[in-house]
Amino acid sequence: MKLAARVGQVTPSITLAITAKAKAMKASGMDVCSFSAGEPDFPTPPHVVAAAQRAMDEGKTRYGPAAGEPALREAIAHKLQRDNGITYAPQQTIVTNGGKHALYGLMMALIEAGDEVIIPAPYWLSYPEMVILAGGQPVIVPTTEESGYKITPEQLRSVITPRTKLLVMNSPSNPTGKVYTPDEIRAIAQVAIETDLVVVSDEIYEKILYDGAEHLSIAAVEGMYERSLVCNGFAKAYSMTGWRVGYLAGPEAIISAVATIQGHCTSNVCTFAQYGAIAALNESQDCVAEMLAAFTQRRSVMLERIRSMPGITCPEPEGAFYLFPNISRLGLTSVEFCQRLLEEFQVATIPGLPFGSDANFRLSYATDLDTILRGMDRLDKFVSSLQ
Ligand code: GLU
Repeated sequence: MKLAARVGQVTPSITLAITAKAKAMKASGMDVCSFSAGEPDFPTPPHVVAAAQRAMDEGKTRYGPAAGEPALREAIAHKLQRDNGITYAPQQTIVTNGGKHALYGLMMALIEAGDEVIIPAPYWLSYPEMVILAGGQPVIVPTTEESGYKITPEQLRSVITPRTKLLVMNSPSNPTGKVYTPDEIRAIAQVAIETDLVVVSDEIYEKILYDGAEHLSIAAVEGMYERSLVCNGFAKAYSMTGWRVGYLAGPEAIISAVATIQGHCTSNVCTFAQYGAIAALNESQDCVAEMLAAFTQRRSVMLERIRSMPGITCPEPEGAFYLFPNISRLGLTSVEFCQRLLEEFQVATIPGLPFGSDANFRLSYATDLDTILRGMDRLDKFVSSLQ
């Protein structure tokens, strides 16, 4: 049977594939240290679990509105006001199957054949694939370690054409961990305003910031409200990866278009999961601070170990929970490096290539300290064996 051409235009998600492989190796009895998917190892906070359980007990197990439970849309609008200083009505928000499907729904609602979508590299590997699935053209803009892996206003201006439809921003960044300063965000916003550009801002890591780094949502900058979409979710800040609850906020016409599409492809997100999400937003935020404290310690330990390894350099992440070390002096492609590391030393990491940089590989430190220490010993041995 002949598959649709679009299938041949995209590749499977390597983050999910390597994570599944590492889990299967572990299940078969192997001692694997996995730094693959960005998945916090903490249990979901008990009050969130309790809220979902209560919702099930109360019979919130049926279909709901495709765009989400009204109470959750209200909680999201409240959060965006409280944390980001942006005023949205609940109908300007939509609850989606994780942040991933918020972005996919947006691409389907906005992008037509041939439309260009600007994506600064390194990027989260699903962005270009989503653009391609929607029939658009990803325009990859390389950045450098020297520029903090951030796109400059001049770079942005230079790639805008009459076909440009959208800019994808992601700060804190997956995979680099870099965070745009408020001034840098304002400078990018200025270009967007001058060139009439729409921006989607993936803010899934906004709560995971180190050393006083500050998060400014581009949608909060004057003149950006009407041309911005904010994407966020519960997976990273509240350790709710498997719950699949995310959201998108923005101009009502776009949100309502995404809701129409969602009504035909997923219907509502799991109803009782949405009640857990309401508790996550409306109740104590101490759990977020506790997880951040653990990430902060793990980041220091991993960074120090990696930086001591010959031939590897590693910029310091300011947010999220990834390291993105440069291995270009070790003489292997990132795919070869990660493959050998997994097969020979049972350490799972993600090659930089699908993130748009073959000189790097990505490690998630959203895992326990013992795994980090054992994994770093093995990585050290592997790197030494390459000298
Ligand atoms: N976003 C996470 C990561 O980059 C989860 C896996 C995925 O969806 O790609 O590891």
